[in-house]
Amino acid sequence: MLRRIDAIRILMEYITDELIVCNIGFPSRELYHIKDRPENFYMLGSMGLCSSIGLGLALSLDKRVIAIDGDGSVLMNLGTLSTIGHTKPDNFILYIIDNSAYGSTGNQKTQTETTSLKDIARACGIDAIEVSQKEELRRVIKESLNGNRTKIIVVKVEPYNEKVENIPLHPMCIKFRFIESIKYHKNNNKNNNKNNNKNNKINKSMKDEIIII
Ligand SMILES: [Mg+2]
Repeated sequence: MLRRIDAIRILMEYITDELIVCNIGFPSRELYHIKDRPENFYMLGSMGLCSSIGLGLALSLDKRVIAIDGDGSVLMNLGTLSTIGHTKPDNFILYIIDNSAYGSTGNQKTQTETTSLKDIARACGIDAIEVSQKEELRRVIKESLNGNRTKIIVVKVEPYNEKVENIPLHPMCIKFRFIESIKYHKNNNKNNNKNNNKNNKINKSMKDEIIII
């Protein structure tokens, strides 16, 4: 059976410049360990709201947003599935890593052995799928990134926390470099319609800024 870190690692194989909002605790630590980037927003609080923050970003930006959430968090904010199904931004993917446990607090059991988040999402009108095998997961991720519709991917994994260090970034750094990466991509899109040479200079300059932050 897959572990959460496998599910994150496989997702990150296909990520280019997408914005990622990641659930608090071990999911964020594991994502940082696999691939840190300014476009990753590591949550340090607000458990349950990863999908809501991701949805808000997707609704307000012309950019693909992926929320890496957990079963425990989605269960404590089930209304989010109704809101996602109602708004359906075509640039939003909710990637629920379902280990049937509250992993970061000691793997206490959740109710997803009897409650299907995929079925609830479908009842909310969302294109949702549940996967547990590596190759199927790769196929679903590729299709979802190439597609143009709201998608929920529920990845069934075993409860296991990888032994990874805490994220060494200051919370303000996580916040501001994420904001700067959004500005960078916004400017990048805008400048694509202008002179390419000028565009390259601006991008280089802004990229340097992000690295410094
Ligand atoms: Mg969980």
